[in-house]
Amino acid sequence: MSNQKTCPSTTGDTATAEIIGVIGTDGLVRNIPTPIPLTDEMRESVGPRPERIFRLAGPCMEGRCANWQNKACALIDRMREQAERLQLATDAADKLPRCAIRPTCVWWRQRGPEACQICPQVAYNPS
Ligand code: SF4
Repeated sequence: MSNQKTCPSTTGDTATAEIIGVIGTDGLVRNIPTPIPLTDEMRESVGPRPERIFRLAGPCMEGRCANWQNKACALIDRMREQAERLQLATDAADKLPRCAIRPTCVWWRQRGPEACQICPQVAYNPS
């Protein structure tokens, strides 16, 4: 397995960001089967902060990211705790959402199917 780790929730500030999902009007992310590079043309057409429309993936920055704690991404555990607190409905653990980046996803590597259960709830600026 490659050591490359992918962050499944980055922002448009990442130069190499790729679209891996679309945020629906209900605030949930619908993954797409193949990543689409967020090109300059697309950035121009969707305007600032493309992460309000798309779920974006990019290289995991590890220690250069505020969410990196104790050699792991702390964001997915925070999201799981929040989902439990708010009693949000999550997908069954045996029903993984399709995903374009699973082999390198840092959340998948840390938490496996539990991460995928909460993943559709994670969006910047959900409507
Ligand atoms: S948590 Fe699961 S569904 Fe979400 S990006 Fe990672 S592998 Fe894909």
